[in-house]
Amino acid sequence: MQKIKNYIGGKLVEPSNGQYLDNYNPAIGSVYSLIPDSTSKDVELAVKAAEKASEAWANTPAKERSDIMSKIADLIQRDLDKLAQAESIDNGKPLKLAKRVDIPRAVDNFSFFATAILHFSSEAHSMEGIALNYTLREPIGVVGCISPWNLPLYLFTWKIAPAIAAGNCVVAKPSEVTPMTAYLLSELCIEAGLPEGVLNIVHGLGPKVGSAMTKHKKIKAISFTGGTKTGEEIARVAAPMFKKLSLELGGKNPNIIFADCDYDKMLKTTIHSSFANQGQICLCGSRIFIERPIYDKFKEDFVKKVKQLIVGDPDGDKTNLGAVVSEAHMNKVLSYIKLAEEEGGTILAGGKRKILDGKHKDGWFIEPTIIEGLSYDCRTNQEEIFGPVVTIMPFDTEEEVLKYANSTEYGLAATIWTEDLSKAHRVADLVESGIVWVNCWLVRDLRTPFGGMKNSGVGREGGFEALRFFTEPKNICVKWA
Ligand code: NAD
Repeated sequence: MQKIKNYIGGKLVEPSNGQYLDNYNPAIGSVYSLIPDSTSKDVELAVKAAEKASEAWANTPAKERSDIMSKIADLIQRDLDKLAQAESIDNGKPLKLAKRVDIPRAVDNFSFFATAILHFSSEAHSMEGIALNYTLREPIGVVGCISPWNLPLYLFTWKIAPAIAAGNCVVAKPSEVTPMTAYLLSELCIEAGLPEGVLNIVHGLGPKVGSAMTKHKKIKAISFTGGTKTGEEIARVAAPMFKKLSLELGGKNPNIIFADCDYDKMLKTTIHSSFANQGQICLCGSRIFIERPIYDKFKEDFVKKVKQLIVGDPDGDKTNLGAVVSEAHMNKVLSYIKLAEEEGGTILAGGKRKILDGKHKDGWFIEPTIIEGLSYDCRTNQEEIFGPVVTIMPFDTEEEVLKYANSTEYGLAATIWTEDLSKAHRVADLVESGIVWVNCWLVRDLRTPFGGMKNSGVGREGGFEALRFFTEPKNICVKWA
């Protein structure tokens, strides 16, 4: 069985204790590879390797760093098919989605930050006749990146690329649930000639590896994407150590549909924003609010279309939804469907585990599920489910829908559908959300600030925000003679 290795000091190495964890193919429901069960000892080795490389990498001209990163982007592009297949097997997502979204975005993350660093600049403030201030933006040193399982290579590279571009050396931990493409990336980094120790990837469990990274004195910044509870734990440990923290956490995103929207466009996109990647995108709209005049029509059309979605073999050309990522996650999502029924909800579509035939008979598939009849403040409508489950609710006024939309502890993303420009701006302004899409969903410009408010996170990723996070500003004030 294939054994994934850690990537430390430029080499692919076994975990120091020789222990491995099972890695599952969720569409089959069985183990297909092994992942290092690393410990704080491996984190220590990775930090040492990163420290050793730190000065040279920080002093490497931006153009040279940029060239190596562009080479990594080219290699990911070259291996797109292989990486997409690996991502689909590891995560359960449809292969065509990995080919169209996940791997191209990993290419973009490297190429975007390879060029962004060439355009990054800092400020100067002149105090006329008195002094000149100029601000240097220096690499932090050794930084930590911890990522989740839902968009494995996509989110892993979204953190690593700006960190390296800015001249830091990185200790990174992908999710133990989906480690494969991070491992394949380490092979590509070696091929691209990334200097030893600039990127170190330690595989293993959060409470062991992630926690050792968070606690490590030499790791000066942590960029984390994952659940709000884990983010809380990381903040509890890292904040008293005065580490820089970027936390991208959970969401419970509202999709607000006004009666005057472009109906066909809205319906098509809403299916996508509800169930893409089996609903396991932090930006999926899981609470759908529909203005009453079109509620019945929307309900009928949406239910009809969702029932036509194909849940099946991730390799299938026609597959819309693959498997959810793990058995534990499947059971969590199913428990929320049960909760919704207990809370008085009616299941309009789906609601069950989907059992497939043949080699997928033990795979972890869930039918896309629509629930109605719940109050906006019940647990089903307040807690993150992170699966192919949405609720639908009617509303009558802007005031009412904003109350519903803003009622959760989260504030990551919101979608608004209306052809009324003033209303779009007004509601976008009042919705408590770090990202708002009007008449679209998941349209991404990598230069824009990305992240959530409230319990959805602290700080923003993307563009120069990320480069600012991964650098330490130093202001130098020079007195005029
Ligand atoms: P998770 O919090 O369980 O795990 C995320 C990462 O943290 C994993 O690598 C895990 O091993 C590690 N980890 C776990 N415990 C740790 C600890 N004590 N110390 C340090 N690291 C630890 O999240 P998940 O289940 O992998 O991902 C799903 C969650 O991620 C959802 O809540 C989703 O909304 C969120 N997410 C947010 C965004 C965003 O941009 N805001 C994007 C994607 C996913």
